[in-house]
Amino acid sequence: MSTIDYKNLKEKLIVAYTKQILNEKPTINVNDLQSKANLPLIRSIHSHINCLAPYKIPSSLDIALNTIDLPKIYENVDKREKENKIPNLRYDDFIVLELLNYFKNDFFKWVNQPSCQCGNNDQIEHKGIKKPPANNPDQISIIEVYQCSKCKRIIEFPRINNPISLLRTRNGRCGEWVNCFLLILEALIGEGKDRIRYVLNHEDHVWCEYYSYGLQKWVHLDPCEAVFDEPLLYCNNWGKKMSYVIGFNMNSIVDLSDKYITKEKQINQTEVVDPKEVEKVIEFYNFKKLHDVYDILKNEQNEINSLLEIYKNIIVPRNKEQVKGDIKSTPSSNIPKGRQTGSAEWTKNRGENG
Ligand SMILES: [Zn+2]
Repeated sequence: MSTIDYKNLKEKLIVAYTKQILNEKPTINVNDLQSKANLPLIRSIHSHINCLAPYKIPSSLDIALNTIDLPKIYENVDKREKENKIPNLRYDDFIVLELLNYFKNDFFKWVNQPSCQCGNNDQIEHKGIKKPPANNPDQISIIEVYQCSKCKRIIEFPRINNPISLLRTRNGRCGEWVNCFLLILEALIGEGKDRIRYVLNHEDHVWCEYYSYGLQKWVHLDPCEAVFDEPLLYCNNWGKKMSYVIGFNMNSIVDLSDKYITKEKQINQTEVVDPKEVEKVIEFYNFKKLHDVYDILKNEQNEINSLLEIYKNIIVPRNKEQVKGDIKSTPSSNIPKGRQTGSAEWTKNRGENG
């Protein structure tokens, strides 16, 4: 009498399923994609597809760990663990909570506009923008140019993207905050796994998420405001209207609009880009990312193991994440109304003052 080898059978099914996914061609091809490349949202998705790569460089993670005050952070992590009242949190969740606090209060500084060497902080006039230099190790996107009304000095504020440079300059607006925060977050809890996510809102804000094993979900983090797990912060507290929110993982892209945007604050997506087109573009990149990882793995190990690995590390997490229709959870509770970073005038102009 023969017995069924269930482990072997399960593996065979997974391999067949994964092969099928790899063969499911996306609805659009490269040419279709290029024809949409002039749409602002599609352009920013394209420019962010590999945005997590800088956080996976081991030497950068070492520099991050050597820059922050680890003894202070861990001392406070221990306190948080002892005093905790939230169920299911694990040690690394306390690390994230403490990092939010440390980063905002001890490490990074918000800059509306730069101050002048002469001591004048108020009468700084915005003069325009400059292109970055050709040799650009700080990965500067643009240079904002200001002039001091008192001493007439020209002040430049380069918008830096390189997270290593930001460990040194330690200031900026939400882009700089998230770029630098993610590097430290990955260094503290990443373990090389796909656990951090860059989150882009089309209406000029960025934040991030990490995967919490304790809470069994992707958790919203806003480093600028030191806010943990309040996805409705923007709509309910800031009063911000938004069209799209897109998340970028190492190996996947996910439309998070339904997680962050309430019905009341939803900007008609069709006026920005047809949601069906966005879905197809994301499908295209996810297909490409899956194949890219598979091709790398196949060079290192046999086909079966490569298929099993992408199933476990990419396909299962993607399938698990049911963002659509999964939100409109409890409204943000004990956080103050309106955005906390930025001047009153700046937040008001952006419609984020609650
Ligand atoms: Zn001055």
